[in-house]
Amino acid sequence: MSQSVSVALRQAARRLAAAGVDTPRLDAEVLLADLLGLDRLHLYTQADRLLTPGEQAAYEQRVQARARRQPVAQIVGYKEFYGYRFTVRPGVLVPRPETEKVVEEALARWDEMERPPGRRWHIVDVGCGSGVIGLTLVLLRPDTELIAIDQSPAACALTAENALRLGVGERVRVVQGDLLSPLLPAGDPPPASSLSGISSIDLVVCNPPYVPLPDWDELAPEIRHWEPKMAVAAGGDGLAVYRLLLPQAIRVLRAGGVCVVEIGDGQAEAVGQLGRAVGFTRERVGYDWAGRQRVVSWIAPATRKDARVD
Ligand code: GLN
Repeated sequence: MSQSVSVALRQAARRLAAAGVDTPRLDAEVLLADLLGLDRLHLYTQADRLLTPGEQAAYEQRVQARARRQPVAQIVGYKEFYGYRFTVRPGVLVPRPETEKVVEEALARWDEMERPPGRRWHIVDVGCGSGVIGLTLVLLRPDTELIAIDQSPAACALTAENALRLGVGERVRVVQGDLLSPLLPAGDPPPASSLSGISSIDLVVCNPPYVPLPDWDELAPEIRHWEPKMAVAAGGDGLAVYRLLLPQAIRVLRAGGVCVVEIGDGQAEAVGQLGRAVGFTRERVGYDWAGRQRVVSWIAPATRKDARVD
């Protein structure tokens, strides 16, 4: 029997609540509005509209997936980030709103940075995932090129796809590799040939995995069952990737270049210390709207030999 929009929503919300979903009504609405190609508001003006059998079956599938705690972004296949729409799929971290703070800090640092005219600027997004951080930056700063690196082939493919869809494919290179190793001079493996010709980096951004591994089991099913563990958790204290990344970042950055990393709440002091230990200066900590520590950034000092990566 055909169901109306309002009845379908009510039943779906009830099922999602029973499955332990935090925002059952909202999720039921988002999944149906997207399926029908409507704004959420229009679900209310079309409350009596009857769903076709096809729509009903497709909605049933979506609600089932959500009841299995698959993230909404994976079910609809996209996530809005900084006003842009990014394709999202299982195997790659779902972009988080708090990561927009990393973009904000990178933009602020970018605008404070001395950049003699006459060349294109190089941004590196380490562990690019869906590409949200790096692609948003090249979208907003037209004189830039992005090198997006991830060890996961699925992430590399998704970033490349998002770059094309957002119209910046020509300014983006995607490289599969471990942290910044594709850019390091005597790397093992040696630098990828596609990166030759780049002599120094102006900005390194990274949202590394920073949840302590012992905390993994406490995370929501949306994360544990649907997102890659290696994108979320690292090391007994959550700091393992910063320990590897920061010494590499200071090597590839030019003097005056900027490094911006996302952190978990409470990690600013430890991560700051790791940055200072490798020689970074002018540290700054950023907070999200809930007052949680969310980002640390530094400048690479001028008083050291510039790393060359070509
Ligand atoms: N850079 C991507 C993001 O911020 C992926 C990060 C990750 O996989 N840890 O969403």
